[in-house]
Amino acid sequence: MKPLNGLAMLTLVFCFLFAGAANTALAQDDSKADAAAKAYAKGAAEAKKSPDKAIAFLKQGNERFVMGKSIHPNVTAARLKQAGTENQGDHAYATVISCSDSRVPVELLFDAGIMDIFVIRVAGNVCDTDEVGSIEYGLAHVKTPVLVVLGHTQCGAVTAVTHAIHGEGHALERNIPPLVDNIQPAVKRAIKQHPDVEDDDIIPHAIEENVWQGIEDLFMKSPATRDLVKSGKAKVIGAIYDVGTGKVDWLPIEKTAEILKKVEADPKRAMNPMAGDDHGHGHGHDHGHKHPAKSGQQAEQGGGHSHSEKSSHDKAGGETHKH
Ligand SMILES: [Zn+2]
Repeated sequence: MKPLNGLAMLTLVFCFLFAGAANTALAQDDSKADAAAKAYAKGAAEAKKSPDKAIAFLKQGNERFVMGKSIHPNVTAARLKQAGTENQGDHAYATVISCSDSRVPVELLFDAGIMDIFVIRVAGNVCDTDEVGSIEYGLAHVKTPVLVVLGHTQCGAVTAVTHAIHGEGHALERNIPPLVDNIQPAVKRAIKQHPDVEDDDIIPHAIEENVWQGIEDLFMKSPATRDLVKSGKAKVIGAIYDVGTGKVDWLPIEKTAEILKKVEADPKRAMNPMAGDDHGHGHGHDHGHKHPAKSGQQAEQGGGHSHSEKSSHDKAGGETHKH
């Protein structure tokens, strides 16, 4: 009995030692996580202040994700409480439009959390009217200093349009053609620009061209976005997400400036930044709320004026964009 007791005692001592070591390790992990969360909060607050800082912060987040070093910020109960009581316009630092594809989880791939990114997801990341309205909301009301138009590798929507243009299309459900018609000019342009590229090899080119198409459609439809970009308060940047590696490939931002210049010279671009201002803007009326002739229509179409975020603008969204 005696040797066994001695062994039991020894085991007990080891157990305490191990438990102590494990506790120390846990405490270290906790303080490491705390430090990472604090650094993230500081970075996010900085990112909110300028387009370049926001882009840099998104890049850092994607790098953490790719390296397997995500910190999964802002998913705590405390953050939820904050989301329930505060204005997202004081927190979210980026607007992102991406494809609905299940392989493109926007917050995860930027290692972001709740109330960090204003996301629009639609098949083929097209910028049609509803998407552009959402983007205007993200830039002018949620006051994010950057918009990312995020395409992705292996995009099914771009692939389907490419096949259709190659004469290999098949029957589509009735609501899909008006969705993908935004992608067609991009695919046609990619084919024209790369006459030597055959069959499905054109798809990666078409995917990039579709990002540029989205930016062009956005600028054509949204004078408010053009104003924000021209004033330097917001930047629009294109990027392609690789669904196999998790990496975001950032496209040259200079190209956005080229597209903006082209749109500014296009007489077909939309001119009035505010809804209900087709008779010329600058009257100082409250664009919609008190406009009897159009109030019903604007209640449906007014894109967020009656939502909970503060609507502090007067004439044009761009003019009152503050940081
Ligand atoms: Zn897609």
